[in-house]
Amino acid sequence: MAAAKRHCAGLSLEKGHRFPHQNSTRHRENGHKHHPESLLDISAKVVALNIPFQQVEERFSRIPEPVQMRIVFWSFPRNEKDICMYSSLHHSTVSESEYQKLPFQRGVRLLDNNAVDHVLQVGFHLSGTVTEPGNQLYNEPEQVHRVSISFDRCKITAVTCTCGNRDIFWCQHVVALSLYRIRKAGSVQLRLPISETLLQMDREQLQKFAQYLITAHHTNVLPTAQQLADEILQSKSRINQLPGKYRCLFFSFSLRQPFQFCSCTSEGIVEWGRGSNTAGS
Ligand SMILES: [Zn+2]
Repeated sequence: MAAAKRHCAGLSLEKGHRFPHQNSTRHRENGHKHHPESLLDISAKVVALNIPFQQVEERFSRIPEPVQMRIVFWSFPRNEKDICMYSSLHHSTVSESEYQKLPFQRGVRLLDNNAVDHVLQVGFHLSGTVTEPGNQLYNEPEQVHRVSISFDRCKITAVTCTCGNRDIFWCQHVVALSLYRIRKAGSVQLRLPISETLLQMDREQLQKFAQYLITAHHTNVLPTAQQLADEILQSKSRINQLPGKYRCLFFSFSLRQPFQFCSCTSEGIVEWGRGSNTAGS
């Protein structure tokens, strides 16, 4: 992957590609007012890059919501070169037409054509839709792909896209959503990790939350929901033997991959739910 990184940097120089966000500081210095970052943002950037959020939660009994928000905000990758590195394999002999077909370049064009929509960041999970335009020449209709990206400490850890990309490199839809988050970070809806939201709910609200979640995705989550309910109702089941409260919940829905339900406690990460989806198959 080191070679890919080296090539990717060369690729950007050879073709004159610019990574706009990297010039933002210089741009400000060259003629516009310079607004220094707040101490909160400076601290949050360092924490977001270096410390797992779970460690932060364990270190302090209560973290103010604005502090959590800034840590979550700065945890997404900030460098477009990283997106390029994992989405495009550069060959030194690549022609201009081949270059334009690289996922990174296709992702840039999708972003420029406003193909990215419904972008939402919940904790360390980013989701959105990317509309691939149709091709009248081949009678191909436009397609809307759902993309989700998980990340931690400024590194993307997992991606899914309904286009069904099987390449080791990310598809152009993942690229488009990632670049949207980097370039238009201020316009992305941001929510705290769902575990924090759950902590704020009372029993009735939690019950309503679970019922509506199952109703909205019943074909995807019902088998796992039933499995969890069975385990919780058994006093000696594994789930009831785990010490500590659950700090983090992670759901992974994809029509093309097994459904996963993961949870981590203060004792470590536990994964219970994993099964086949019935929707769309
Ligand atoms: Zn895709």
